[in-house]
Amino acid sequence: MKFTTLIKLLQNHLRCIRLARLLLLFTLLLTSSAFAQKNRSFDDFVDKDCECYNRKKEGFLSKVDAHCHFRPFGGRVIPFTELVSYFQRSGVLYVNAYGIGQTLPSDDTCTYYLDCPGTPVTPSLRNDFVNAANYLEYKGRDTGKPDDPFEGEERINLVLSMTFPDLAHPERVTEYIQLLDAEYPGVFTWMGEVNLVKQALFANGQTGASFASIAKWKPFMDTILKRDIPINIHSDIGCNGPADSLTKYLYLMEEVLTRYDSNKIVWAHMGLSKELTEMPAEQHISILSRLFDKHQNLTLDLSWDVLWDSVFVDDVARAKYIKFIDAYPTRFITGTDFVASREAKKYKTYKEALYKTSLINKDMSDEAFRNIALGENYFKLLNLDYTAPQICEKKRKKKVKRKEVVMK
Ligand SMILES: [Zn+2]
Repeated sequence: MKFTTLIKLLQNHLRCIRLARLLLLFTLLLTSSAFAQKNRSFDDFVDKDCECYNRKKEGFLSKVDAHCHFRPFGGRVIPFTELVSYFQRSGVLYVNAYGIGQTLPSDDTCTYYLDCPGTPVTPSLRNDFVNAANYLEYKGRDTGKPDDPFEGEERINLVLSMTFPDLAHPERVTEYIQLLDAEYPGVFTWMGEVNLVKQALFANGQTGASFASIAKWKPFMDTILKRDIPINIHSDIGCNGPADSLTKYLYLMEEVLTRYDSNKIVWAHMGLSKELTEMPAEQHISILSRLFDKHQNLTLDLSWDVLWDSVFVDDVARAKYIKFIDAYPTRFITGTDFVASREAKKYKTYKEALYKTSLINKDMSDEAFRNIALGENYFKLLNLDYTAPQICEKKRKKKVKRKEVVMK
């Protein structure tokens, strides 16, 4: 290679590095400016006459994280109180504490299931026990103290979720609900995220549920129906490939929605996944609109930053989804899908997940923004006695009519 070519290559390389640094700096600036707003206080959601929410001044970040995994797949966990401080610091006030639907064996060194194909992953009761124990350790023990995360001035509202059900083998779910009832009466008011069909788990021994296993859910679906407990289900619509593979598994979710038409069903990530990134927006939206119209019990969950990276990031597709969300503003909730694994995860990671999953809020109508980002839909789903602040009316720009001076 000639010396001059080598110099040119080096110069190009340095230019690329400089550009990458600039891009990183730009992203960091954008993220930190989104977090620079003053956070809303909890009392604003109790007081119906509180100050209206100014979207321009107060930003677009969600106040609700209805999809957060407090337990990792395996390995070390972010301590409970540290995780709670992430919500307080970022202004999130309402959180669902999920376990994780795919735990690795407790005696295994693997910490992420995709790194160890062949190692079996299964839902487990131990997540739910640990979450409940951690929660009760703090709740109400220091009532009146300002630093109590659930009673103090900077409190958050935590909803505990049962994440243990194995939907492919549901025989013992009711029995386990009774076990949690006995140990932690009245603590669990949500169920999920449970996996109906998740292709990412196929290499770890999970095959997904079938019509036969869905029929066997009845006893536990009746129990949660009586308690008005919503269930968040992860169910892939299909996978990339030939046209018919895009909707390969859709029939399973349709069966659940039809069979359990009185249960409050939340569909995680709108049925999308890393395996399904090529479905045209029109096709996806038309499937979801049809299901919304047919099943009044369905709510869609906008959680997971993958939705931004693979779908919403595209301006044309995003405009279509915004139109869809605005047309059904009472049918969505939001969340980060953060997993509290200590491996490479810290406050910055949570902040980024919240930022990315909130970006879609920016373009929503005021009604959809209040219902989704500020949590009105979430409160209604859970019958929580909170009200999202109203959105401030936009000031109309006064048009100064210029008087035409007629020159004579
Ligand atoms: Zn999740």
